[in-house]
Amino acid sequence: MTIRKPLVAANWKMNGSDALARELTAALATVNLADVDVLVCPPATLLHTLASTEHCLLGAQNLSQYTSGAYTGELSASLLAEAGVRFVLVGHSERRTLFAESDQVLAEKMQQAITHGLTPVYCIGENLQQRQQEKTGQVLAKQLAAVYASHPEFIAKSVIAYEPVWAIGTGEAATPEQAQQAHAEVRQQLAQYDSKAAATVRILYGGSVNSKNATELFGQTDIDGGLVGGASLNAEEFLHICQSAKG
Ligand code: PEP
Repeated sequence: MTIRKPLVAANWKMNGSDALARELTAALATVNLADVDVLVCPPATLLHTLASTEHCLLGAQNLSQYTSGAYTGELSASLLAEAGVRFVLVGHSERRTLFAESDQVLAEKMQQAITHGLTPVYCIGENLQQRQQEKTGQVLAKQLAAVYASHPEFIAKSVIAYEPVWAIGTGEAATPEQAQQAHAEVRQQLAQYDSKAAATVRILYGGSVNSKNATELFGQTDIDGGLVGGASLNAEEFLHICQSAKG
């Protein structure tokens, strides 16, 4: 029996609607997903719609690296926690590239999340050029070191999402073998900081997951569920993906 409960997370990005939030919670209520943690990360304006349901966990897509103050437009970890948020994405490739979030800023965001009792979903992954140059292991090691080398105690309080950048939103998911290899590498890298936590931390795969490829991906030894973008915007499709994680 696995020691890690599967987790399937929806990342709606800047999509979705109040109607979709209601449709999804109604759909989740029709199935038994007791063996799977289902997490939904909607845009911040929709958090309140999902906050009262017991059928999914609530996540934010971003948080500030600051505690409070004159940071117009930003949301602190404590404000998110007060809104019922329990998880938060940190280091998504779109934040790293489009919003130039550095390793330093991401480490500060991880600290904020953990200090305020939120579980960070720390996203890492190589781009196409790095994969073609066979630098995947190196890239993952650097992204993990940026947070966990100085805070190994954060591993047990995190979820990791391995998201190869070339697979995000492209319809070209990593093969189960490619994904398993990267997940094993991540677990091995983490073990040098805390071997016990490395064995129990959940590592999600993200990048063009859909209802057709989810079962095989989630069936890999070191894959503990998924972070789902596009396919999570269809309630029925997302439900199928969640059911694929039941094992
Ligand atoms: C994501 O953005 O986290 C993601 C995995 O997107 P998609 O499933 O659309 O590739």
